[in-house]
Order: sequence, then C-alpha cells, then structure tokens
Amino acid sequence: MNTATLQANLITLRQRITVAAEAAGRDPATVRLIAVSKTFDAKAVRTAHAAGQNEFGENYLQEALGKIEQLRDLQPVWHFIGPIQSNKTAAIAANFDWVHGVDREKIARRLSEQRPAGMPRLNVCVQVNVSGEASKSGVAPDEAVTLCRLVSQMPHLKLRGLMTIPEPNRADARAPYRTLRALFESVRQAGVELDTLSAGMSDDFEAAIAEGATHIRIGTALFGSRIPAPAGVP
Ligand SMILES: *Cc1c(COP(=O)(O)O)cnc(C)c1O
Repeated sequence: MNTATLQANLITLRQRITVAAEAAGRDPATVRLIAVSKTFDAKAVRTAHAAGQNEFGENYLQEALGKIEQLRDLQPVWHFIGPIQSNKTAAIAANFDWVHGVDREKIARRLSEQRPAGMPRLNVCVQVNVSGEASKSGVAPDEAVTLCRLVSQMPHLKLRGLMTIPEPNRADARAPYRTLRALFESVRQAGVELDTLSAGMSDDFEAAIAEGATHIRIGTALFGSRIPAPAGVP
C-alpha cells in the first residue's frame, strides 16, 4: 500500500472515530487508535508513523520482534494483542508496552516476573469472553474481578482494563460491548482500578465507541486486507 492511500485511510478512520464519539456524547480524544500491523511489514508501520500514528498492535510474536527491532528509532507504543502461550511471555514482557489478552493467572505471573528491571510496569488488559463460546479465549465474566484483582497486585504489571473479541456478524453489534462495559463498572465497584476498555475492530468499532471503548484495534480499515497467516504461526 502506498503512502497516499495509507494517509487517506488514516484520515477517514479518524473522521469516523470523531463522528462515533460525538454521537455518543464523548470527546474523540478519549478514543485511542491502535493500528494493527500484523502481517504488514516494517515499512508499512513506518509510513503510518510518518502520518502521525504512534500505537501499533501485533499478534504474532516472531513477526513482531523483527519489526520492533527494525523500528527502534521510532519508539512507537507496541501492543501485544494475540493469544499468549507461556513460552512467549519473556519476549513479550521485554519488548511490549501493553498486553491485551491476559486470561489466566499463570500468564500474568510470568509476565510480571519476566518484565525486565528498569522498564516501566507492563500495561495489562484482562481478556473476557463475553460471547460464551467454548472455543474462544478469555475469562468467563464471573471470573473477571478475581483475575483483575490478582493482576493489580503484581509488582511489574499495571492493570489497565478489560478487552474482548466478540463473535463476528452478530445481530446486535453493541451487545457484547455493553456487557464488557457493565463488567468494567462492576470491577471498579469491587475496588479495583481500571481505565481502559479495549474493544472494537474494523467491522464494529463504532458500536464499541458507543459503549465506551477507550482503545480500538484496527487493522483492515487502515492497512487493507491481510493475506492469511501461514500455518503454524504464531
Ligand atoms: C487482527 C486483530 C484485530 C484487527 O482486526 P481488523 O478486523 O483487521 O480490524 C483486532 N484485534 C485483535 C485481537 C486482532 O487479532
């Protein structure tokens, strides 16, 4: 994708974010855009960065590490948004600023223990499965408070909020995000501090913004469609 197209996509996206936020009575500045650059190369990230985008999301660890290395000079904010296996936690803890998708205590504990000394605490969102499908990752809603409290007590993690990936093509686009927001309120009422709702992708981010999303994770609407990841990745 050339620079002009990427810049135009970014402008269109920012306009849609503004419209959606204002329709919800929100300040558009309270919605942060994470550009999901998985499967796109370092050059694409560099182009988006030159157009003013500073936060990037990656799913596949090996691919991400290569880009992080190549883009050290830019120092963007890196978000790990993929599923996390325990043999990947050390590299994630050492190279990312945020991790969305923590859904068990063991992973949280390893990320905290492996966060290198001298780095700021790793920002964490707990992933919740609000659709209830057995195949999807994420804690069940009734386990969210417990995991959030544990994460909030880990010395090298900073609990930021909740994240979800709802089932696509649902009848009511807002329903899972409404559930996530209600859960966010109940975690706060339980005395655990949160400030982030990581919700919304290319197909449904307006619905997520209407329900209070503070971070939307957008790939396709910015970089175009992806070639599927090769088998065995990550
Ligand atoms: C790939 C991915 C996205 C971006 O999806 P698009 O539909 O391309 O915007 C967002 N969040 C997660 C967790 C992803 O894996």
